[in-house]
Amino acid sequence: MDKTSHTLSVPTTPREFGFYLDGDWVAAGDREIFERSSPGHGVPVSHIPRCTKEDLDAAVASARTAFDDRRWAGLSGADRASVLLKAAEVIRSRTDEIAYWETLENGKPIAQARAEVQGCVGMFELAAGLARTLHGDSYNNSGDGAFGIVTREPVGVVGLITPWNFPFLILCERVPYILASGCTIVAKPSEVTSVTTLLLAEIMTQAGLPDGVFNVVTGPGRSIGQHLLEHMDVDMLSFTGSTAVGRSVVEASGRTNFKKLGLELGGKNPQIVFADADLEDAADGVAFGIAFNTGQCCVSGSRLLVERSVADRFSQMVADKLAKVRVGDPLDEAAQAGAITTDAQNRTILSYIAKGQEEGATLISGGRVLEISGGQYIEPAVFTNVTMDMAVASEEIFGPVLCVIPFDSIDEAITIANDTEYGLAASVWTKDIDKALSISRRVQAGRFWVNTTLAGGPELPIGGFKQSGWGREAGMQGVEEYTQVKSVHIEIGKRSHWVE
Ligand code: NDP
Repeated sequence: MDKTSHTLSVPTTPREFGFYLDGDWVAAGDREIFERSSPGHGVPVSHIPRCTKEDLDAAVASARTAFDDRRWAGLSGADRASVLLKAAEVIRSRTDEIAYWETLENGKPIAQARAEVQGCVGMFELAAGLARTLHGDSYNNSGDGAFGIVTREPVGVVGLITPWNFPFLILCERVPYILASGCTIVAKPSEVTSVTTLLLAEIMTQAGLPDGVFNVVTGPGRSIGQHLLEHMDVDMLSFTGSTAVGRSVVEASGRTNFKKLGLELGGKNPQIVFADADLEDAADGVAFGIAFNTGQCCVSGSRLLVERSVADRFSQMVADKLAKVRVGDPLDEAAQAGAITTDAQNRTILSYIAKGQEEGATLISGGRVLEISGGQYIEPAVFTNVTMDMAVASEEIFGPVLCVIPFDSIDEAITIANDTEYGLAASVWTKDIDKALSISRRVQAGRFWVNTTLAGGPELPIGGFKQSGWGREAGMQGVEEYTQVKSVHIEIGKRSHWVE
């Protein structure tokens, strides 16, 4: 390992990585290499191999063998828990290194990256407990002649495709829970943010995970990712990313072996603010909800629905807050928002900012390109005079662009909130508990926040309604998702014969 990677400056030369197979690194050799540049600085930081289809086959075979010979699934929950707890300890001790690579490849502020890695420690600790408490059910009510047991068994080999917006956090919202269930894994991170997934593989080996239980292949989604979707020996696939690729995940499963799927896709999440809210708190929360991680967040609150009587005043309060967000070099400890992660995403965000103006919305603040340390940065933008038929109001932008839409009644707020193909998350801001609770029941979203946003913990499952996805990750539901149920019917005593 490169011990100098702890210093907070961009590496002078890109670091070479291999991929991770059967408990060890495999050097890139003569494979094609992808060079990743830091989006915050525009300089190359890592070299990542583009794995071949044969590499993927080897990784799936390794995970298959490790599953079938029961070196992991056959352990007690207590033994699995001790590996997960050890992993938590190693992640804690390597926090600075993981955060550094997350910042270099993703462009997020180093302080945020460190906090995310620390949050991941808790996910491993919780999953350790869940490995010990995962259980089935029994039916002792079938009379003296029968007994029924319902067991949960690990699904098998899980393919894991993760995106570039929270490379380590999203990975850790899945890996410890998948491992708690007894499954084995072949992970494919987004090519532009591969390093921290590779580091986790090394950490798992360090923590005592048996070889072959966690493998990582690297390369582009359109080739190696697509092969993983179609692989006949992968039993389940967890995909996090765009709704468009999510659709091809479903098609690939239907075309091949009907692998079980978990999908976490896009969102166009409402922040519903009532005049009776603590408006200072709400303005801060709305600004955080759209500018955190530069809005490259599937649960970011990109639609501000605000009661008309306070709409102008509140929009200005949010704009004032956003103007004060410290957008800066992500290696600067003081930065609150960093760079836009990919060139394509940068173009997408800027094109939506232009489109919003063409559609007739009013840009009341932000939206300019910022020249900082050679990277790609955009000032958080606020649009008013937005209607739901505009692309900026209905399509996922995945950037720091907030659209303000006024409402006059609770029913109208709920109608606008649900007027989207997505259903990932929603927030309501009000001091009226009856209003908050009744809205929480009627808004279609997998996550709902009252007087806060982007909050949660490893215990709370995540996932979406409608076209935002299938299944849930994290918490006990996140472990159960990677199991299948078996009903065991046991006959007691002498059989009553069918043929005399
Ligand atoms: P993608 O859906 O293309 O990427 C997500 C993951 O899927 C990456 O690991 C990617 O690999 C992989 N992938 C891409 N194509 C395939 C394929 N055919 N088969 C298998 N895996 C594939 O998202 P983008 O990076 O293109 O971002 C586009 C939009 O998606 C964003 O603007 C945003 O709206 C949304 N998005 C949503 C996310 C969420 O958390 N819900 C996360 C990321 C994006 P690779 O990157 O190596 O190509």
